[in-house]
Amino acid sequence: MDAGHALQAKSLSREFGGFFAVRDVDFTLHRGSIQAVIGPNGAGKSTLFNLLTKHIAPSSGEIFHEGDDVTGLSMPALAKRGVVRSFQISAVFASLTVRQNLELALLRPAGSAWDLLGRVTGKRAIAERADALLERFELGECAESLAGNLSYGRKRVLELATTLALEPRVLLLDEPMAGLGREDIGRVTDLIREVGEGRTILLVEHNMKVVADLADRITVMVRGRILAEGPYDEVSARADVVAAYTGQ
Ligand code: ADP
Ligand code: MG
Repeated sequence: MDAGHALQAKSLSREFGGFFAVRDVDFTLHRGSIQAVIGPNGAGKSTLFNLLTKHIAPSSGEIFHEGDDVTGLSMPALAKRGVVRSFQISAVFASLTVRQNLELALLRPAGSAWDLLGRVTGKRAIAERADALLERFELGECAESLAGNLSYGRKRVLELATTLALEPRVLLLDEPMAGLGREDIGRVTDLIREVGEGRTILLVEHNMKVVADLADRITVMVRGRILAEGPYDEVSARADVVAAYTGQ
């Protein structure tokens, strides 16, 4: 397998009681790129995400990270290698403040943060890292607010900040724009682009403007299979892709 590929799936399948949510998928996430997986509801996008990050086990097939077979690795083991994902549902701690959420994320031992932030030991260093994240994500004003009291948009930004606290090299985002208003979508798009510098990002996204703005390449999934893959302009213009989207 190619070590220049951040993640690679070979003949990946996942069955749920006889139904293939993902069927015989070959997929490559190129290192340093921002790629998007699109497709109608139920196409298997989240399942592919869950498989790639070892959240669920494949029924068959193999997964490689930078050329190494990681099919048998656990989710924390893959996170230690720098592959981190966010969830479609917001995952911040409502009864903690924004700052506490970030400090907790910085302390989380399962992720790659431990390797990359090996220097960060003391409480003060954690606080400084949290300050930097607060500033970068424009969350300073609400640092002491309970996360549960934030607007939905701010919660998603906080979630992105906590995911970034782990300094992932490969970041997978499942519908980062879900439920956001136009202004927040613009902000989060800018943040993802910024965060994408020097990283590899895979996102599942319904908002086609966001996909067009961010993604170098797109993969179209339909009924568990990959229908098309390539540069956005090329793929989005294909008749079979348009038909899959409009249900014709
Ligand atoms: P998408 O993210 O593209 O909307 P999903 O990957 O969530 O699609 O789901 C793909 C298909 O697999 C759907 O038909 C869904 O109902 C089914 N599926 C996903 N997860 C499970 C599960 N844990 N048990 C049974 N069926 C599932
Ligand atoms: Mg989904």
